[in-house]
Amino acid sequence: MTAYMDHKNLANETIDAKRRQEITDGVHRVLDTVAKATADAGREPGSAKLLAATKTRDVGEIMAAIDAGVRMIGENRPQEISAKAEGLIRHCADEGFDLGASVSPLKEGSNPEARTHIPFHLIGQLQSNKINKVLPYVDTIESVDSLETAEKIARRAVAHDITVGVLLEVNESGEESKSGCDPKHAIELAGQIGAIGGLRLEGLMTIGAHVDDEKRIREGFAHLRRTRDQILASGDAGTADCRELSMGMTHDMALAIAEGSTIVRVGTAIFGERAFI
Ligand SMILES: *Cc1c(COP(=O)(O)O)cnc(C)c1O
Repeated sequence: MTAYMDHKNLANETIDAKRRQEITDGVHRVLDTVAKATADAGREPGSAKLLAATKTRDVGEIMAAIDAGVRMIGENRPQEISAKAEGLIRHCADEGFDLGASVSPLKEGSNPEARTHIPFHLIGQLQSNKINKVLPYVDTIESVDSLETAEKIARRAVAHDITVGVLLEVNESGEESKSGCDPKHAIELAGQIGAIGGLRLEGLMTIGAHVDDEKRIREGFAHLRRTRDQILASGDAGTADCRELSMGMTHDMALAIAEGSTIVRVGTAIFGERAFI
């Protein structure tokens, strides 16, 4: 168990009015930033979606973000998913949302057509012994960076008779601390992963370079976009859905949207600084 989980009850469901207001303001600010960056880039409104990165946040905080307009969430650690999923699914069901891969019990008299799906992604590294823990909850695993991991996820997906969305994570910055495959191998790997049964290759993911030089950060994002375009153009089996570009976080979301991001993953700008890493 990670140490910070001893200091905070992630299953907590009630937050005070001041905290709720902070999160509401954060969501509105980020949605404005995303809308403006999308318009500045001459792109269709809504073509860059907001994913709230919810690591270290509890159920009450995450529901406040959903109440304020967040329609996609991402967790980093299987242990956090286990701690929060039951509470999140129950609150979402009460509000007419289906969260992730879970199917909520329908309330009597409610119209299934009127329900909104909130995608639930895993955005952190996944050890193979935790795959079965997350499959009941997440729609998409964003952090697949090797054929080996993809095959392990696929075997369990097939055993559960489900299809799991995956994004191929690419280490565009080349920083050693970062996960992700070598950009040189991304196209070949995407073709191999797309061909595996039980998986649906939905796109590519990267973490922006940890530097001040905006030009360098943008180059990484632009390279990921070109890689995605080449994969789509290849016409290889299983690559036709490889459209998403998950790139951009609190400090570089506008740059990522300018370079074609379809999913920005934002934590700090919504919830404030993390007290635990
Ligand atoms: C934490 C995290 C984010 C969000 O980072 P912020 O800087 O807080 O916006 C995005 N992606 C991944 C993979 C993360 O771990």
